[in-house]
Amino acid sequence: MPFVPESVSPLDQAGLDRLADQARDAAARAANLEDLGRLRRQWTGDSSALAAANRAIKELPGPDRAQAGKNMGAVKQAVFAAFDHRRQVLEETAAEAQLSRETVDVTEPTERLAPGARHPLELTQERIADVFTAMGWTIAEGPELEAEWFNFDALNFGPDHPARQMQDTFFVDPPGSGLVMRTHTSPVQARVLLSQGVPCYVAVPGKVFRTDELDATHTPVFHQVEGLAVDRGLTMGDLRGTLDRFADAMFGQGVRTRLRPSFFPFTEPSAEMDLLCFACRGVDPACRTCGGSGWIEWGGCGMVDPNVLVACGVDPTEYQGFAFGMGIERTLMFRNGVKDMHDMVEGDIRFSLRHGVEI
Ligand SMILES: [Zn+2]
Repeated sequence: MPFVPESVSPLDQAGLDRLADQARDAAARAANLEDLGRLRRQWTGDSSALAAANRAIKELPGPDRAQAGKNMGAVKQAVFAAFDHRRQVLEETAAEAQLSRETVDVTEPTERLAPGARHPLELTQERIADVFTAMGWTIAEGPELEAEWFNFDALNFGPDHPARQMQDTFFVDPPGSGLVMRTHTSPVQARVLLSQGVPCYVAVPGKVFRTDELDATHTPVFHQVEGLAVDRGLTMGDLRGTLDRFADAMFGQGVRTRLRPSFFPFTEPSAEMDLLCFACRGVDPACRTCGGSGWIEWGGCGMVDPNVLVACGVDPTEYQGFAFGMGIERTLMFRNGVKDMHDMVEGDIRFSLRHGVEI
């Protein structure tokens, strides 16, 4: 409907009432806030009949001005109130429409991007380092490409010792270079004793190498944590206590362990540390995890052989030491129920997400 401003005198009460009615109708018809703004300018702006009537007041003779002013005040108040009321209604409607538009269906599936995860072996290694740091030990590292002397000779492996073959070593070209990819973390024992002296309490997590084929329980590159304590008066009891504390921290308070006699060239006496089978708790003769023995092997340990102490310049009549080497892959397998070594080396994010997110 085209807008035709009606000219009205500020003294024409009936005309002003009509004007107010028309303006109220116009405000009530406004479909949205934009429409309302436009109508408000038409009905109250400078070129509106309302503004013209207001301007006409000063043209009136003196005595009429007061009445005209009163009339205009009332009509203006009515018109502005109508527009204000309509604005409020339209704003509420718009807010409701916006809320319903922005409603989120929290049950709808999303395409969430995986945040990534650290490798579970890395986390396990850090957790182990934390356990020993809390006991007051220090953490050390050594080279992965190692001198044969540190890897074997310093650790009491004679030149023709069958363990050199038994350990299936990667020798490094050229032949006779005297270098190997370290087969265990134990050479760091000798390095630490030579560089730091005694007493010493050190844990060494790291990568080791053997010529194994990758299968469910073997990998040519794996991780160990080496522990070495050398001090006055250390005994197998200290070794056992330390490993039990370590086992508690990794597998839960009160996990049962046992030491089983074994042999390593660099410890005497030597033992394997076994854990009570986590699958059958030692009661199922048909258990596939422990082969029915009730125990699973965690790693080797023993009292440091006096020959090793001598090779590292420590007097074995004064100092005793114990050492151990636990497989980190085995620890992760027991701790998180990982069944296959392939999962640890294939780099599938689903494996890392499942086992590699911890607080
Ligand atoms: Zn079992």
